Formats: sequence, C-alpha cells, structure tokens
Amino acid sequence: MKPAARRLAIRDLQVRFGDRQVVGIDEFSLGAAEIVGLAGESGSGKSMTTLAVLGLAHTVGATVRGSIQLDGTELTGLSQRELLAVRGRRIAAIFQSPAMAFSPVFKVGSVVLRALRLHGMSRADAAGAAARAMRQVLLAPDLLDRYPAQLSGGQLQRVAIALALALRAEVLLADEPTSALDVTVQAEVLDLLRGLRERDGMSVLLISHDLAVVAEVCDRVAIMQGGAIVEQGPAGQVLSAPQHEYTADLLAAVPRLGPAQAATVAPPVLSAPPAGPDGGAAGPDNKAADPDEGAAG
Ligand code: ADP
Ligand code: MG
Repeated sequence: MKPAARRLAIRDLQVRFGDRQVVGIDEFSLGAAEIVGLAGESGSGKSMTTLAVLGLAHTVGATVRGSIQLDGTELTGLSQRELLAVRGRRIAAIFQSPAMAFSPVFKVGSVVLRALRLHGMSRADAAGAAARAMRQVLLAPDLLDRYPAQLSGGQLQRVAIALALALRAEVLLADEPTSALDVTVQAEVLDLLRGLRERDGMSVLLISHDLAVVAEVCDRVAIMQGGAIVEQGPAGQVLSAPQHEYTADLLAAVPRLGPAQAATVAPPVLSAPPAGPDGGAAGPDNKAADPDEGAAG
C-alpha cells in the first residue's frame, strides 16, 4: 500500500444480498492522481463494490457494512441527502453502457446541465463548464444538442467523462467503461482516462474483466475473486509475476498478456478485444446509471 495520500480508502467492506455475501474486501485504497485497476471475472463483485462506494447498493437490495472513506470522511454513515453532495460531485462514475446514463428522450446536454445544476451551478456556469469539458474530451460542444441515439457509444462515453470533468470530481469510478466499445474507440477512451489522471489529477478506479485493458493504463492492480481481493500491487509486478493462482489463470486467458509477454506491459498495442460478455450490464449498472440519480454519477 502506498503511503501517498489516500483519496479513497476501503476497510472491511462487506456487501450482502440477505445472507449471501458478494463482496468482502479487507483493504483497498485509491491514491491521489492514481489509476488503479480492479479486475476479475464476471460475478466477482466489481460492480457491487462500485455501487457500495457510490452509496447506491441499497437500490439493488444489497446491504453494506464497513468503512469507505473519501479524504478521511466516512461515507457509509452519511444520509442519502448528504451522499448526494458526494455522489456525482466528488465521486463520479461511468458505466459499461453509456447510453444508460442518458435518457433517450432528452438531449445529452440537458442531462449534463441538469446534473451540474443539481450540484449547485448556475445555468450560465453550467453551460460554460459543459462546453469546456466537451472540448477537454475532444468533442465539439454542439454535440450536446444531440440525442443519445445520434452519438456513437464512444462519443457518449466521452460525454459521460466530460460530465465528471465539469463537476471537478476527485474520483472517477469507471465500471467496464470500454467493454461495449470497439477496439479503436477503447484505446481513445483509455487515453482520455490517462489524461484525467495526468492533467486533472483525478483518481481513477478502472474496473474491467479484461486484464489487457487494465495492463494498459493502471499504476496498481487489484484482482477480485468471489468478492474478495486476492492480490494487489503495482501493475507491472502483479501482471508479470502473479502471486495468486487465480491471477495467473486470468492472465493465461489473455493471449497477448501471457506470463512471457507480461514483463513488457505498457505499450498501447496490448489492447485486446473484450474476452467475452461481462453479463453485468443488465444488473446493478442500470440503476446506477439512471439519469434520475444524477446522470453519470
Ligand atoms: P461483477 O461486476 O464483478 O461482474 P457484480 O458485482 O455485478 O459482479 O456481482 C457480484 C455478485 O453479486 C454476483 O454473484 C451477482 O450474481 C450478485 N448480484 C449482483 N446484483 C445482484 C442483485 N441485484 N441481486 C442479487 N444478486 C446480485
Ligand atoms: Mg460488473
């Protein structure tokens, strides 16, 4: 664990559906301006961890115990009202299917502006911040006048990232943000995430079932299995010399990241097509991405 400032610190986190525990994390943290990958097969508890951090696990019927701190402030004890000031504003989230964050009947700009206004910006400030953020994600601001169906998946994901930027979020939870995108667009979105860290000092939790994606951009990696983090450490180390059998199995499933190549992890060419459908898209992600919850967060 880094001694560097921990923005997000999780301790003894448990997420349950009734008697069934689906997440049990002893310790996990996300430092300032750090990109940490959370990887593991479908069903390993990645999305439920995201929902717990967002304070949204109850919306899918789960209960949360333990400690989740943002810059030293305990989030688990906050009321939903208090959480509103954190979720979206300080901790933003993007999901596998950006279309779900945008209602098909509203122009994307109106969803973005509504979220910015919800977090206290004036109409004029919100419009200015939205336009600036669009340029930061290399989109023309007038795309805000379009409906979701008039944008590509990659463009929509950029708009969701722009919203996080406009809100000046400190932490971005990116749950399978590139899994639904084709490979070239995947690479662009990953570049953007790198930029968020380097230019904006944002801390990014990059969740993926795809270790090739994680290898490409992450400083550190945590490997989840059955709700627990079975291994975590610097990305180069975990991916080139996995200590846990499950990590080795995951690596073996990514042809270009087999142990032999993994030592040279980093070049963008490592991006491989998604290993398979995640299956999580129809689960909790839907609810979290409901525009009524504040669009992409
Ligand atoms: P991942 O994102 O790693 O694919 P999830 O966090 O979505 O996994 O799921 C973790 C576990 O929680 C899985 O066993 C899944 O079946 C269960 N789960 C997720 N959502 C629900 C739900 N709404 N009701 C009951 N169980 C759920
Ligand atoms: Mg998931």
